[in-house]
Amino acid sequence: MNIRNVVLGCLLICFSCKEDPGINRKLPLPNSPYITILGIAQDGGYPHINNNSEFEQVEDDSSLKELVVSLGLVDPINQKKFLFEATPDMPEQLSNLERNYLKTDKIIDGIFLTHAHMGHYTGLMHLGREAMGSKNISVMAMPRMKTFLETNGPWEQLVSLENIKILPLKEDVSVQVTKKLKVTPFLVPHRDEYSETVGYKIDGPNKSALFIPDIDKWSKWERDLLTEVEKVDYAFLDATFFAEGEIPRPMSEVPHPFVEETVNAFAKADSTTKSKVIFIHFNHSNPALDQNFEERRKLESMGFRFANQGGVYKL
Ligand SMILES: [Zn+2]
Ligand SMILES: [Zn+2]
Repeated sequence: MNIRNVVLGCLLICFSCKEDPGINRKLPLPNSPYITILGIAQDGGYPHINNNSEFEQVEDDSSLKELVVSLGLVDPINQKKFLFEATPDMPEQLSNLERNYLKTDKIIDGIFLTHAHMGHYTGLMHLGREAMGSKNISVMAMPRMKTFLETNGPWEQLVSLENIKILPLKEDVSVQVTKKLKVTPFLVPHRDEYSETVGYKIDGPNKSALFIPDIDKWSKWERDLLTEVEKVDYAFLDATFFAEGEIPRPMSEVPHPFVEETVNAFAKADSTTKSKVIFIHFNHSNPALDQNFEERRKLESMGFRFANQGGVYKL
C-alpha cells in the first residue's frame, strides 16, 4: 500500500473528527439511510489544471486532494446505494462507496444527474465500451439532459450500447428510490447551455436534505433560500467562490452565490438554521478549502458547516 495514501487517509479521518460531528468516522456507520460526501470540489477538482503549486502542495501533504462534488445515498436496510453526479472522479468515488459504505453485487443502483457541466456528468464515460462496459446502469435525468445524452457523441453510444438506461425525471415529481427514500428534482437558474439544471431534495425516514451544487444567484431562484432551508435538516449549497475578485477573469461569466452572499441570506436566522447549511462545490481558488482560513472558522462559530469528504449525515 502506498504510504502517501495512508497518510492522506489518516489526515482525512483526523480532519473529519475535528471539524464536523456529522463525519466522525470513529463512529459506526448508521444502520438506517444516510448521505455520505464523496467529493467537495468544483468541476475542475483540486489540484486544478494549470496550477503547479497546488499539485506540489498535495504532493508534499500540505494540502489535501479534493475530488469533484458528489454525494452517495445509502440505504443499508434495503441494500441499495445511489450516486448524485457522475464526476470525472467517479471510478474512485464508486470504489469508495463500495468498499467503505455498502458492498453489494451491483456497482450502483442509480445515478442522479443535476446538469451537463463537466464536473457533473462526464464520469459516465467510464461506463462505456472503453472502460467498464456496464449493462443498463440507471441514470436519472431531466428532459433536456436526457436528450443531450441521447443525441450527442460520445454519450449517445452509452445509450445505444445499453451501458446506461436513462430514466426521465420531471420537475417537482418525486421518485421513490427505496421504501424509505424519496428524491425530488427542482429547477434552479444556471448557465443552461446544454441542459436544464436541477437541485435535489432527498427525503429519508426521519430527515431530509437539499443538494444544490450549482446555481447562478439566490436572487434569480423563484424560491426563497431561507424558507427552503428551514424545511429540511441539511442543505448542501453551492460554495464555488468565497467572494468577488477571487479569480482573474470576470466573475459575472461564471455566476455563483458567493459564500458571503449565502451567509447574508441567513442574517436573521438562528444558529440551528445556520447549522443546516453545509457548503460544498468549492472552486480551487476558494480560500475556505483551507480548514484554518480565519473567515471559515468565524462562519463555523456562527453555526455554518463546510462539507468534507467522508462526512456522513443520517436521514
Ligand atoms: Zn459545477
Ligand atoms: Zn454548472
